[in-house]
Amino acid sequence: MRATDAIQGTRAIEHLMALLRIEGLSGDERAVSDEVRRRLVAAGCPRSAIREDDAARRLGEKFHCGNLIVRWPGTRSGPRRLFLGHMDTVPLCRGAVPVRRGNRVVARGATAVRADNRTAVAAIVTAAEALMRCDADHPPITLLFTIAEEIGLYGAKAVRPQDLGRPAMGFNLDSGDPSKIIIGAIGASRWTAMVRGRSSHAGMHPERGVSAMLAAARAIERAASGGWFGRIEQGSRCGTANAGMICGGEATNQVTDRVEVRGECRSHSRAFLRRIVAAWRRAFEQAAASVRNVHGERASVVFQETSDYRAFRLPAGHPAVRLAMRAAKMVGMSPVAEVVNGGLDANPLVEKGIPTVTLGAGQHNAHSVDEYVDLDEYVAGCRLLFELMRAVG
Ligand SMILES: [Zn+2]
Repeated sequence: MRATDAIQGTRAIEHLMALLRIEGLSGDERAVSDEVRRRLVAAGCPRSAIREDDAARRLGEKFHCGNLIVRWPGTRSGPRRLFLGHMDTVPLCRGAVPVRRGNRVVARGATAVRADNRTAVAAIVTAAEALMRCDADHPPITLLFTIAEEIGLYGAKAVRPQDLGRPAMGFNLDSGDPSKIIIGAIGASRWTAMVRGRSSHAGMHPERGVSAMLAAARAIERAASGGWFGRIEQGSRCGTANAGMICGGEATNQVTDRVEVRGECRSHSRAFLRRIVAAWRRAFEQAAASVRNVHGERASVVFQETSDYRAFRLPAGHPAVRLAMRAAKMVGMSPVAEVVNGGLDANPLVEKGIPTVTLGAGQHNAHSVDEYVDLDEYVAGCRLLFELMRAVG
């Protein structure tokens, strides 16, 4: 059966509208998870194939729902394929009422419309339903609906490969145009610099104080004048860095003894990302050492880095990339490979040894009140997914 016959636009859009209507902020995905489960069971998926993992328990009290996992054996043998999309939406989607305007779905009021990422959730449900209904031949398949992507890829970071049946490759849906095949994504690190000085009366004995404020200011300036602030380009290597938060100080008449600065760095090259972070660490250490009082006491800094997600790039010849390209051509697209500057659920999965490509299902202008779903792209994304589930590869 052809994908255009197996996937009817009206049915695909029915799933989409139902899922777009459901609230589901990061950490509170329960209603979305229940709806996905209900729709899959109604389509013929055995209840025993569906389970929720224990990610919520492991992540802590802010999380009220785990990752939803569906595992099917293949009707033919072959490496297991994983299909995933995140269930949560950003706070700007709170209270959204999706309405159809011609070929688009938009929000009625001043909210985002939840296209990021319910287009993915609905497309996976639609393609899975079509696969069950037309009894198509397929290799072993795992569906994964992740939690808390928007606040730090928590669900994808917490999921265990053995709970997924150790898939050989993954297909993540979290983009717009389905003909763009995302084969790589940037890596990022966050850092915190705790700058310590010594307090003193700023009017009576300023010379006895060691200003953490001055040390922090010098550190940022030092990093910037060294070329490590904002967009960073050194030959063929590039990245970005930002000092995004600063807090400290208690009174204007008190030399500041404590300032905390937080920032982030990004690069497609892991080695270059390490260099950027090292430059910021050095800037803080040198700046702290340069601020001293009359007694020769210096400021000090504790600089801590936490890796957010690692950069990756799948080779063009990787089986997952080739399969995505072939399936896209089968549904009449002209696919192109892309690399993006944001973190995806694909990043932690690649780190766990599951090479993952990311595809689109019609979401646009995510995280803004201008967000919309392009319904032609959405239906095309559903058909691409259906081919990916059954294609011989
Ligand atoms: Zn998203």
